[in-house]
Amino acid sequence: MLTDNLKHINQEILLACEKAQRSVSDVTMIAVTKSVESQTAKELAKLGVVNMAENRVDKLLEKKMALKDFSVIKWHLIGNLQRRKVKLVINEIDYFHALDSFKLAEEIQKRAEKEISCFVEVNITGEESKHGFKPAEVLPFVQEIAEFDKIKIIGLMTMAPLNASEKELHEVFSELKKLQCAISDQHLSNAPCTELSMGMSNDFPIAIEEGATFVRIGTAIFRGA
Ligand SMILES: *Cc1c(COP(=O)(O)O)cnc(C)c1O
Repeated sequence: MLTDNLKHINQEILLACEKAQRSVSDVTMIAVTKSVESQTAKELAKLGVVNMAENRVDKLLEKKMALKDFSVIKWHLIGNLQRRKVKLVINEIDYFHALDSFKLAEEIQKRAEKEISCFVEVNITGEESKHGFKPAEVLPFVQEIAEFDKIKIIGLMTMAPLNASEKELHEVFSELKKLQCAISDQHLSNAPCTELSMGMSNDFPIAIEEGATFVRIGTAIFRGA
């Protein structure tokens, strides 16, 4: 089941890349394992999946421990991170996708022992329930943390609204792409900002058409498994 699902997802990634005339090597699939046990994550690792994500600190640490024999795995923390939990996890991850406040950046700067590749989370549609900066706040924030040598802004991340139409999805993802380009055009030394973390099980082909370089996929991998 996992094998079939992965094959199907890879096929869809390939099709979306062809449609957008992009190279498939520019899109990284991250397996979001929050809905499964470590044993299933281990099966994924055996099938060659090397990017794994969790949205909770305790679950990420648990999975990483269980999969310690798979040293090639890159660990992504994709969910909201409370400041008091930064010290527990920041030196255990390769990527952090949900940088959403100056205070959180300060704590990461204080606790990280190496440079962490981070995505600034952006709330494109301004939904109250969502984390993330408003689009206009992103550049000032990135400039504000210019001196934080433990934080490298490699790109931007967003979550599309639930139940959005295809048209709305295209709009949200292309907004994020525009913002990413505007920031990378500044050539800030702390923010190459070349990457876009967007697209989940239900919308990743659209996200890829709009420029996603990291897609975060959970449900579609484990469907029926
Ligand atoms: C759960 C989650 C995903 C994956 O969602 P699916 O719809 O299961 O593919 C992606 N990103 C974040 C931040 C998540 O919390």
